[in-house]
Amino acid sequence: MPKAKSPQPPARSPTLDDSPSRIRCDVDFDRPGRQAAYLKAPQSRNTSGWGVVEIPIYVFNNGSGPTLLLTGGVHGDEYEGQIAVSRLAHTLDVGQIQGRLILIPAVNIPAALNGTRLSPIDGRDLNRCFPGNPKGTFSEMLAHFIDSRVLPHVDASVDLHTAGHSADCVPSTNMHYVADPAMRKKTMDAAAAFGAPYNVVFWGVDEGATLTSSVERRGILSVGTEIGGWGRVSVEGVRIGERGVRNMLRHLGMLSGKVDTKQRDGAKGTRHMMVRDAACYSFAPTGGIFEPRHVAGDSVDKGQSAGFLHFIEDLDHAPVEVYYGAAGVLWMASGPGRVQRGDCVAVVMQDYADPQQ
Ligand SMILES: [Zn+2]
Repeated sequence: MPKAKSPQPPARSPTLDDSPSRIRCDVDFDRPGRQAAYLKAPQSRNTSGWGVVEIPIYVFNNGSGPTLLLTGGVHGDEYEGQIAVSRLAHTLDVGQIQGRLILIPAVNIPAALNGTRLSPIDGRDLNRCFPGNPKGTFSEMLAHFIDSRVLPHVDASVDLHTAGHSADCVPSTNMHYVADPAMRKKTMDAAAAFGAPYNVVFWGVDEGATLTSSVERRGILSVGTEIGGWGRVSVEGVRIGERGVRNMLRHLGMLSGKVDTKQRDGAKGTRHMMVRDAACYSFAPTGGIFEPRHVAGDSVDKGQSAGFLHFIEDLDHAPVEVYYGAAGVLWMASGPGRVQRGDCVAVVMQDYADPQQ
């Protein structure tokens, strides 16, 4: 009887994670101390076929403890997170922390320097490109690097956003309704420690390709923020963001001192909210100038007027009213300005209640 061949291990199907990144990384994530360097992402352009785009990254590594990733500027027109992460990089002494801190103040540096949500290089939203593709467009290449080269080192991630140019929002953390109850509680506790006035649990639209989704797929604790908007720098948003990132270090045991979650209205801590279904979102039924009737943080009712669309170019076109589909607190409110048909002009949040209980 011929000797049976020993079974061969099945050929591993190539995954994107196995592909070499085209981005050069000069930091050694395991080296103790403070490192400040640039990620060098290749970009062939008219002035240089071998050009690179440099993305600042800082690694603080001291003693033992978890690894926290803080990211700002995934959208370039959201400034408070870029400021909070950058200031932490310039003011923190590595000897003060226990564990490892990875700081990328402006992940999407081309968009950050351009002051836009989308990358001026490929016109893509980086936060819709995850888990990315090393052979894809610039944004896809960058998403792949973050997912495959940075996230494997990380235990907890805080990705700082605002509502960008198109809307304003009340300062808040946010998170997905994570399926695992233990992870959900851990995430809610971390968000509460960040200490924004609100934490919003939501069932997202278009969520599969976000950084948050990549973080969650890897089993890493994920908290997001929305701490400003309308394309300006919110004084309160920066205050909440700077306090929040230090609160998070304390919550994770990486920095000494007490977490401070006191709120301006006297509340001791964060109010947990949710955006549960499509009724919480109001959309422009047609393009025009949107005139909002409330500001973020206002209480609103179901069926109440959210605002009007105006058609200043058309003698015969009367204003069109837009309504709220749910009662609650206005989380995000469109700014006065031109909107397109299908733009989201209001998002309402409600007090959190676990739907499975
Ligand atoms: Zn954003």
